Amino acid sequence: MKTELLAPRPDAIEKAAGILRAGGLVAIPTETVYGLAANALDGAAVRAIFAAKGRPQDNPLISHIASMDMLGMVTGSVPPQAQRLAEAFWPGPLTMVLPRGAAVAREVCAGLETAAVRMPSHPVAQAVIRAAGVPLAAPSANLSGSPSPTTAADVLADMEGKIPLILDGGACSVGVESTVISLAGAQPVLLRPGYITKEQLEDAMGCAVALSDAVLHKLKDGESAASPGMKYKHYAPKADVTILKGSFDAYKEYMKSHCADGVYALCFTGEEPALPCPCVTYGRADKPDEQAHALFSALRELDARGAKTVFARCPAQEGVAMAVYNRLLRAAAFRVVEV
Ligand code: AMP
Ligand code: MG
Repeated sequence: MKTELLAPRPDAIEKAAGILRAGGLVAIPTETVYGLAANALDGAAVRAIFAAKGRPQDNPLISHIASMDMLGMVTGSVPPQAQRLAEAFWPGPLTMVLPRGAAVAREVCAGLETAAVRMPSHPVAQAVIRAAGVPLAAPSANLSGSPSPTTAADVLADMEGKIPLILDGGACSVGVESTVISLAGAQPVLLRPGYITKEQLEDAMGCAVALSDAVLHKLKDGESAASPGMKYKHYAPKADVTILKGSFDAYKEYMKSHCADGVYALCFTGEEPALPCPCVTYGRADKPDEQAHALFSALRELDARGAKTVFARCPAQEGVAMAVYNRLLRAAAFRVVEV
């Protein structure tokens, strides 16, 4: 199959909508990362997403809607707390897990009685959903396990020959996947941190949000994840990544004694001149928004440069930085060394 890469002009949006209505796949830009979209009401179309990504069958997908009218196609009852969050953060990078609706394909929910839904703010994503007229199931448009794509070129690198069309909307502004909150249980639970922070969610709802164990800790063998995606080694470049937790001075000393062929520093912007080995940066130390925006392209750049061993500076763990730390932990398969 030939993969076309098109600017998101009106005729390309129409073409994308036609492919989606006919049960095909299209990669689209969103404000978080690029998504690999299919009609969320069509089980066969959704199965094609799992095949193209090599995604485990038990990892459910997020359905994307363009208006509140579409919500009922994905979910069942909508509790008042979900209404409040929708008013505060939609359209935007927040996904809510709610009781599932009857119309959404079984494959989207991977056998769960809940469905995840989000209304993206990216104008191209919105235009494609509206033109297709159905909710779109859309996980990140990368091969399962590799870093999420934040440019059309990243998508092409993973999906060339597997899908007919990629819409090129430039670089994604946020750069990490949406925040996922479950409102399906007795208490709201943050399943995946993102650009919308736990504190913002608590303010909007006026109640506490619990943090799922899987966000910052590795699940033990046999333990089940509230959010299945969190149990996989994920976002990983080919190199072995280790996070070094501690001051910059301690990091520098560690790098001096570990510098060798194929060893790279994944450091904060501006730190390169003080380091003895090749560096890839991912934003300034005190700017978590920059880190989120840059992390996945930095991981892909390490692969492109042939890095074998990577020592990463450790991000903070609150606010937006929690999302960065959560992704980096999985890229490092939870290897963290205190220096
Ligand atoms: P992705 O589409 O790759 O951004 O991943 C979506 C993630 O959202 C999954 O890996 C799950 O962790 C989470 N998710 C989606 N649907 C559900 C659901 N029904 N219940 C719990 N978590 C979900
Ligand atoms: Mg993904």
